[in-house]
Amino acid sequence: MHAVHWPFRWLGELVYPRACALCGTTLSPDAPWACSHCTSRFMDDLSGAFCPRCGRVAEPYMVSPDGCRHCKGQRVHIDALVRVGTYEGPAGQLVIRYKFNRCQYLDAILGTLVADAIAGQAWASQIEALIPVPITLWERWGHGFWPVGLLVRAAARKLNIPVWRAAVVRGKKRRQAELPASARAANVRGIFRIRGSQHLAGRTVCVVDDVATTNATINEMAKILKKAGARAVFAAVVAKTTPEKIFSKNRDQGP
Ligand SMILES: [Zn+2]
Ligand SMILES: [Zn+2]
Repeated sequence: MHAVHWPFRWLGELVYPRACALCGTTLSPDAPWACSHCTSRFMDDLSGAFCPRCGRVAEPYMVSPDGCRHCKGQRVHIDALVRVGTYEGPAGQLVIRYKFNRCQYLDAILGTLVADAIAGQAWASQIEALIPVPITLWERWGHGFWPVGLLVRAAARKLNIPVWRAAVVRGKKRRQAELPASARAANVRGIFRIRGSQHLAGRTVCVVDDVATTNATINEMAKILKKAGARAVFAAVVAKTTPEKIFSKNRDQGP
């Protein structure tokens, strides 16, 4: 793979100087993927405390395995969730550039960030495979590629575990972004189908998605994976939104 890719990347850098993946300013040759200003913004976002059950931003003293005030008592199928950063912060910015500006080359950066986020969790060593949330062919055509499919490959390489494409999707009835929080779980109910469930019996896996708002999608995935025999299902997302902010600001916004 690398032998094929590196000359093009090298040529690309001669023609287009490397730019910060977040703000677009030109980078010095020794800089990583973001400028120093964006790196420090990113580190702040990454180091923020979040609820291990729903992924929402939480005060450090309020972080508990039972959940935060938003998700405590709510029925969830995922055993725990980790996020790289917030959708409102630089992690969300990076996902938007990746998915909607056809910046496919960000897959390795995003995959590494997801792998590092998983590796920092107490449950990391239990994970036997990563399972990407599938999208429809139509969605794939819209993006020009499969955003989660690519980044999950990079994450799995870094964690040295396989990727299982254990589920396929029938297509949502409506785009989640068009719906209020209360309608999203019903909109994704029954849309995924397991393929090859024999792999899943007794296994511990981690579902990966790019963005989570109400967690309806990853919860539905966890539900069917457990139905197919998975022992435990964890989840990792790049960017977690604060649903309250989105729904109070604009009902039509967000993923
Ligand atoms: Zn920058
Ligand atoms: Zn919570």
